[in-house]
Amino acid sequence: MTIDECRTRCLKCEACPLRAGCTQVVFDAGCPDAPIWLVGEAPGGSEDAQGVPFVGKSGQLLDRFLEAAGLSRNKNVYITNIVKCRPPQNRDPLPEEREACMVWLRRQFILLRPKIVVCLGRIAAQKLIRPDFSVTREHGHWEEKNGTLFTATWHPASLLRYPENKTASFGDYIEVRNKARLLCPDLFES
Ligand code: SF4
Repeated sequence: MTIDECRTRCLKCEACPLRAGCTQVVFDAGCPDAPIWLVGEAPGGSEDAQGVPFVGKSGQLLDRFLEAAGLSRNKNVYITNIVKCRPPQNRDPLPEEREACMVWLRRQFILLRPKIVVCLGRIAAQKLIRPDFSVTREHGHWEEKNGTLFTATWHPASLLRYPENKTASFGDYIEVRNKARLLCPDLFES
């Protein structure tokens, strides 16, 4: 299976009740062959309307951070979510919804094999790094699993509510850029 075939199948998925309440499945954005992944929790209202992850106000903040760190969804970053359909009223996806949708993220991993995964927010970090992971205490820490480096920072939507964390979060993106430079120096040659 290719990532395009995986996306096509996922866009037709009705495996959990979230699909009935959203506009469309939101699968991914950015460069599928990028070594750096950003993984959020689920689409919000703008993402549900446009079919693209991180396009609302929090997505604009994310793009500003990426650009300032020398990263870009058009060049060297791939973006997706743990859960591909918008939960009602933007509530946290339920554990059973997260597990149902992980089948897609696991396929994405197998197909694309990222070198670095940045979890955006608690839901992604606790699913992909550790169930007791604390973004406040452990953001910017690195853990290696099966050849992929995982780290986490605040979800950009959280930074809009708590701007006092923006400086620390931007520092996490700088560290991601530095780590990527070490692992994939070709990535930053123009
Ligand atoms: S949230 Fe995931 S598992 Fe549920 S319907 Fe959407 S794509 Fe399928």
